[in-house]
Amino acid sequence: MLTTHPFDDDKLHEECGVFGVSGTPSAAALVALGLHALQHRGQEAVGITSYDGDNFHTHRAMGHVAGNFDRDEVIRALTGEVATGHVRYATTGDTALRNVQPLYAELQSGGFAIAHNGNLSNAARLRRELVRRGSIFQSTSDTEVIIHLVATSNYRTLLDRLIDALKQVEGAYSLVVMTPEGMIACRDPLGIRPLVMGRLDDAVIFASETVALDVCGATFERAVDPGELIIVQGTEIRSIRPFAPMAARPCIFEWVYFSRPDSIVDEQSIYTVRKEIGAQLAAESSVDADLVIPVPDSGVPAAIGYAQASGIPFELGIIRSHYVGRTFIQPGDKVRHLGVKLKHNANRALIKGKRVILVDDSIVRGTTSLKIVQMMREAGAAEVHLRVASPPTAHSCFYGVDTPERAGLLAAKHDLCGMTDFIHADSLAFVSIDGLYKALGEAKRADVRPKYCDACFTGDYPTTLTDQDESAEVDQFAMLAERVN
Ligand code: SF4
Repeated sequence: MLTTHPFDDDKLHEECGVFGVSGTPSAAALVALGLHALQHRGQEAVGITSYDGDNFHTHRAMGHVAGNFDRDEVIRALTGEVATGHVRYATTGDTALRNVQPLYAELQSGGFAIAHNGNLSNAARLRRELVRRGSIFQSTSDTEVIIHLVATSNYRTLLDRLIDALKQVEGAYSLVVMTPEGMIACRDPLGIRPLVMGRLDDAVIFASETVALDVCGATFERAVDPGELIIVQGTEIRSIRPFAPMAARPCIFEWVYFSRPDSIVDEQSIYTVRKEIGAQLAAESSVDADLVIPVPDSGVPAAIGYAQASGIPFELGIIRSHYVGRTFIQPGDKVRHLGVKLKHNANRALIKGKRVILVDDSIVRGTTSLKIVQMMREAGAAEVHLRVASPPTAHSCFYGVDTPERAGLLAAKHDLCGMTDFIHADSLAFVSIDGLYKALGEAKRADVRPKYCDACFTGDYPTTLTDQDESAEVDQFAMLAERVN
């Protein structure tokens, strides 16, 4: 089987997108539309839960929004003026339907549906404690830990129970929660994953990205602040900030790759920042060449920025087919190796005899970069230089992004020379961490706490990593025990 985007297989994958609406009879239809715009944040599964004042209704399925939520009967069954939805790419938990969100539970206070973007870095520890105290888990998702913490909290009101639960978790969470008392949106105190609020007439909307507001015809109101809970009950909206204030550390990779280029994050256009990163890259690592070629699609804005700053012409040297379905069953072993060309093919007439600069947004394992460089050489390129619009990804992410173990990351195994050899390029360069911050209008200073989470480049994680630390301890103990034996 070939996935839709062979070039995207070797990327960090954002794990989820969330979307919630309160205050319109077409809530579920709007959620479906919003999730469609967030499809790039998770393509494995999708779900919508609605509330009609008496009952909760849920439809969850594997696959894309289109194909699952484009049938009238599915949307019509999701009645009510409040609805929330989720697109997913598994970070923790397996790919079974039981892990597809929104997760739902009947608590003492009534129904409780939750959609979560992010990942809890102490979920395994909390889960063990909850199971010891008698909790019975229905899924393997880290999000279910929040439900059990709410269910077992000693506080009286549902809101206080939720706050109590959130004070026990660590890591990244942007949540949309639905209860009979209303909708609650919240973002972890560091604001690692994005969450914005918008309006469509009298309806209030929460979404992972502004692009989802655009497609619904909603207006952007503001970002949900790190550490803020916004409670919507009918027409009443309240904001509370129950956590100790701390400096935010939003994920810098949202600007590099995750968010759609037509989204605005923290008042900055993703597209403009990506072009600026390309310009920084050109300033830091120029090379004589004939063409600047983007690796489609995510490398396009940075390649435009690189070309404009360097004066080297921008050309489409790799053409993407838009007619390859979600998966394609390979007709036989003989043609299996041709799979990558089904989706992307070199523009041979343009490339032959030229010195080309390929611009990509990131390198994870390096396997795709190797294929693309090879593709350029087979098309007759005289020289192939790869420029990458992010620093080397040398550390795993534990905040809701699918990353290989550290040992699988190209930059964790090789220095620049080794990476260049691995991908068979004539030269390879990454934008520096300073250059990346500069593109965001910031300065990275060693003596000041960074403004963003940049841990996958620097290893400087903004939270404790309880589960990681504990599993490292277990491994160490097992190694010692093995030596003693
Ligand atoms: Fe984003 Fe990297 Fe931090 Fe994960 S580790 S939240 S991908 S910057």
